[in-house]
Amino acid sequence: MTAKTLPVDTFDLVIFGGTGDLALRKLLPGLLRRYADGQIPEDSRILGVARDRQGDAEYRAKVGEALARVAAADETLQARLPAFLDKLGYLALDATKDEGWDEFATRLLATGERIRVFYLSTSPTLFVNICDRLRAHGLNTGNARVVIEKPIGHDSASAAVINDAVGGAFAESQIFRIDHYLGKETVQNLLALRFANILFEPLWNASRIDHVQITVAETVGLEKRAGYYDTSGALRDMVQNHLLQLLCMVAMEPPAALQADAVRDEKLKVLRSLKPIRGEDVAHLSVRGQYRAGASSGAAVPGYLEELGKPDSRTETFVALKAEVDNWRWAGVPFYLRTGKRLAERVSEIVIAFKQIPHSIFDDSAGPVMGNKLVLRLQPDEGVKLWLMIKDPGPGGLRLQHVPLDMSFAEAFGVHQPEAYERLLMDVVRGNQTLFMRRDEVEAAWAWIDPILSAWDNLRDAPKPYTAGSWGPSAAVALVERDGRTWHEDTV
Ligand code: NAP
Repeated sequence: MTAKTLPVDTFDLVIFGGTGDLALRKLLPGLLRRYADGQIPEDSRILGVARDRQGDAEYRAKVGEALARVAAADETLQARLPAFLDKLGYLALDATKDEGWDEFATRLLATGERIRVFYLSTSPTLFVNICDRLRAHGLNTGNARVVIEKPIGHDSASAAVINDAVGGAFAESQIFRIDHYLGKETVQNLLALRFANILFEPLWNASRIDHVQITVAETVGLEKRAGYYDTSGALRDMVQNHLLQLLCMVAMEPPAALQADAVRDEKLKVLRSLKPIRGEDVAHLSVRGQYRAGASSGAAVPGYLEELGKPDSRTETFVALKAEVDNWRWAGVPFYLRTGKRLAERVSEIVIAFKQIPHSIFDDSAGPVMGNKLVLRLQPDEGVKLWLMIKDPGPGGLRLQHVPLDMSFAEAFGVHQPEAYERLLMDVVRGNQTLFMRRDEVEAAWAWIDPILSAWDNLRDAPKPYTAGSWGPSAAVALVERDGRTWHEDTV
């Protein structure tokens, strides 16, 4: 069984950075899948742009090689691959130079007025150049959309520079700031669970929820991103965008409708309600760590400093925070956030931990009554589990068991779910901004992150070391245990 898909309108998609890692690993494979599903009209075109000098045929051959690996286990993808490659073109262009832009504009405008998507899959340092030139060549028409990737700046001030430049060429309704976490099936299931059921919403507040945990754990180290990562660190790279966006989806008030600005207004209110963490609070509400040599997937791996080749870096590869949403619904409910590289397992999940029952009618022999938990797993296997107490089946005394009710219907029905980038790319073509960040959201997120960064700068201590393959520094465990809680472990 396949998920129902409605074709989108014909479009031209330009991928700046069309030879890069993101384009070859995520964007083009995603587009191939959407095409094979019949969602992309035949007369749509995809144009890769980068500095490398090559023609259409050479680009198609390179992309074809990468996509053949993606299609290896799927006959439909294999069958559709040649026709998909026919839609691809390439243009060598340096975003920082004027040369070649006239030809680029002529080639695009030749198809007349149609939806044009400019995906900026390059370093953010090029966003200003690209947007200025798109405007100068009249490519910022009403039907144009521009997609920008994280990182949108490294603090409030640098984010404003990028947003000003992009905003100078395109209206806010044309700007799609992508956070692929929002395209994940489970995140949308969170919206369905919260707002399409009567069961959860009455419990979704400080009187019934004890705390929330959001974990985004990676097992990989620096990979090829050393240069960028060392100037960023886990707080900027993961918390400012992905973790805060997930927090917003959990904590926001019900929007009046599932419309882009209605949803984004509610997310913005959450970001603006985050209790500032600044000055001395930073020491007891945040933990930053840096991995040392250890093991990952059974193999010995070097520490961050050796991998980087820079013995004095103080960049954090791990961060844990205790955040609070200072409003009526969430007063006093901690939101524990943690993310890091070279952790024990690759897992992204949101855990909603409900409060204990007020009184137990059961004898000690029944065993402990544990709190209910709703666990939304975003990766590796997307799914939703509701942990409940039930009677241990069978004869004998009444003993209680804490078991998960698996609510992963997609798996049960064998539906192929599109990957986040696939869904989001089609949303861009449709002009649906619901799952994209608005400028004021990005600014509000930085406004909360900036004081933590500056307090860290003022602290003399280095990030706390942790062994690669562990769950981070012991201080992160202490952050939660100090409050009488533990990090969730999925035992089933
Ligand atoms: P990448 O592999 O380094 O690719 C960069 C691309 O930009 C290449 O195609 C490069 O080709 C092109 N480029 C560089 N300078 C250029 C110029 N002056 N004019 C035109 N093209 C130029 O980077 P990436 O990993 O794909 O990442 C792209 C963006 O997505 C970055 O902002 C990154 O932070 C973000 N992102 C990536 C991932 C991921 O999984 N890779 C995930 C999230 C966000 P030439 O050198 O031949 O010009």
